[in-house]
Amino acid sequence: MGDSDHSSDPSVRLEELIDESVKVKRRAYCPYSKFPVGAAVLGCDGRIYTGCNVECAVYPLTMCAERNAITKAVSEGCKKFTAVVITSDLKNSIITPCGACRQIIAEFGMDAEVYMTKSDRSYTKLTLRELLPLGFGPDSLQEEKIIVNGAPIPTIQQ
Ligand SMILES: [Zn+2]
Repeated sequence: MGDSDHSSDPSVRLEELIDESVKVKRRAYCPYSKFPVGAAVLGCDGRIYTGCNVECAVYPLTMCAERNAITKAVSEGCKKFTAVVITSDLKNSIITPCGACRQIIAEFGMDAEVYMTKSDRSYTKLTLRELLPLGFGPDSLQEEKIIVNGAPIPTIQQ
């Protein structure tokens, strides 16, 4: 994290975010896939939170870099992000977030900018809304539900 600049504007912090994402990628624990990934999220508090992928011999327990960075931020009190930067060792392709990570990013900001980089630091930027069109999110649970005879439809009692 920079000493002087605490802006939450991704365009101001992008080089720093890429640096942090590359740095944390070196800590990836990926003996099975051999596919290290690093992520850096920029919180609205101006802090940068990082995460790497952590694999497990029980494969489904593997955790992605993006979700690690976001859960780290939330556990430290930051629940809103302006940007997520993702890095990998792919030479010719950008690294894109998996579906599960898109959903977790959506939980904390449909308008977050997602910077999907190549190893030469070039990137494609999309908002989460563009990466997860018609996504289900916290607002979905608040929408009006059908009412029958003045009451919500009862659930089946076992
Ligand atoms: Zn993922």
